[in-house]
Amino acid sequence: MSKVDTYDCAFIGGGLAGLTAAINLAKSGYRILLFEKETYPFHKVCGEYISMESWDYLVRLGLPLADMQLPRIKKLLVTAPIGITLEQDLPLGGFGISRYLLDETLMHIAKKNGVIVMNPAKVESVAFDGKQFTINSSAGVFTCTCCCGSYGKRSNLDRIWKRPFILKKPNPLNHFIGVKYHIAGHFNTDQIALHNFSDGYCGLSKIEGDRYCLCYLTTAENLKRSGNSIETMEREILSKNPHLEKIISERQSFYEQPITISQVSFNKKTQVENHVLMLGDAAGLIAPLSGNGMSMAMHSGKLAVAVVEDFLEKKISRVEMEKRYQKQWKQLFAGRLVTGRLIQRVFGKPTTTNIFLWMMKKTPNLSQWLIRQTHGNPF
Ligand SMILES: Cc1cc2nc3c(=O)[nH]c(=O)nc-3n(C[C@H](O)[C@H](O)[C@H](O)COP(=O)(O)OP(=O)(O)OC[C@H]3O[C@@H](n4cnc5c(N)ncnc54)[C@H](O)[C@@H]3O)c2cc1C
Repeated sequence: MSKVDTYDCAFIGGGLAGLTAAINLAKSGYRILLFEKETYPFHKVCGEYISMESWDYLVRLGLPLADMQLPRIKKLLVTAPIGITLEQDLPLGGFGISRYLLDETLMHIAKKNGVIVMNPAKVESVAFDGKQFTINSSAGVFTCTCCCGSYGKRSNLDRIWKRPFILKKPNPLNHFIGVKYHIAGHFNTDQIALHNFSDGYCGLSKIEGDRYCLCYLTTAENLKRSGNSIETMEREILSKNPHLEKIISERQSFYEQPITISQVSFNKKTQVENHVLMLGDAAGLIAPLSGNGMSMAMHSGKLAVAVVEDFLEKKISRVEMEKRYQKQWKQLFAGRLVTGRLIQRVFGKPTTTNIFLWMMKKTPNLSQWLIRQTHGNPF
């Protein structure tokens, strides 16, 4: 597809929400533009465990998952800082794949389906004149009829639009940091481990090739307390959990330095901002320990595709498109985010984590129920 004056829909951010929704709409013949500020392929802080609920959707979009020799993950191990462990089968399970491989492969599928991928291209501003959007980016100025914000947890546009979650002072839900490594080792290939430590938790699971993804979330306060040194924090705080102590001390990382992010917020967000439909983390971030953020991002993109199509075919007005998207988003995800926030508050506090794990061990049905509350069905 060649470049045109006005696109049917633009996606700001080429992570999972933006890429999958862009492919989906392009497959129906629409003229689609996608902006990604980083240069593909690139690493991203993420636990890289994807719930099986999005397997079929990814395959329908053209990702040859069955041929990619990816590890299938069916079990969960949770350890508490003082050593209590809980092992569970995962009701639906998941698979492991790095974002480096996944996002790049989807980008190529997007291009093959006619999406114009602007990369690297950072969107600086978006203006709506009542009919169309004008997008100002480092790659030039573009216009489009619909616009989706798929730019992840926090972006320059959140600051420009003064979104309420960004204006909040540091609170127990908005001051987290994420750290990720790819490591070599001999761990269970069909298990995701979640090791808790004071004010944080660390996931370990297999991805493609000979790699495991080691990724943790903790408070900015923990880093500050460690003199802003990740090494000190890992030695003095994470390593108090004996399971983590062994992993960290024996770890062979594929990177010189870990990949990091800061200012991660689980506070509520709006799903439409200045007539832009918000997808994925830009609409609301679920606690990573639920292992469901990527599926939610793709599923929210699929919801947006359906209403955008109806609008472009003139079946519904713009007001109706925005209303339907917000309603459907809330129906599908609001409950999961509430449960995710609740678990996020419990985990990492040594006493509550221990009590929580003890309760889960005693009542396996309760833990299965809780896992189901943060997950959805295949879509
Ligand atoms: C520590 C941690 C561990 C996690 N582990 C898991 C897990 O194991 N399983 C799981 O399912 N989920 C996990 N998640 C959640 C998951 O990573 C996210 O929910 C998912 O990546 C959201 O996808 P997205 O497309 O909304 O955003 P992203 O994947 O973040 O994509 C957004 C993209 O937008 C780009 N961008 C931003 N601003 C601009 C701009 N102005 N112009 C152009 N481009 C822009 C960014 O570069 C980025 O590539 C984890 C999250 C954290 C923090």
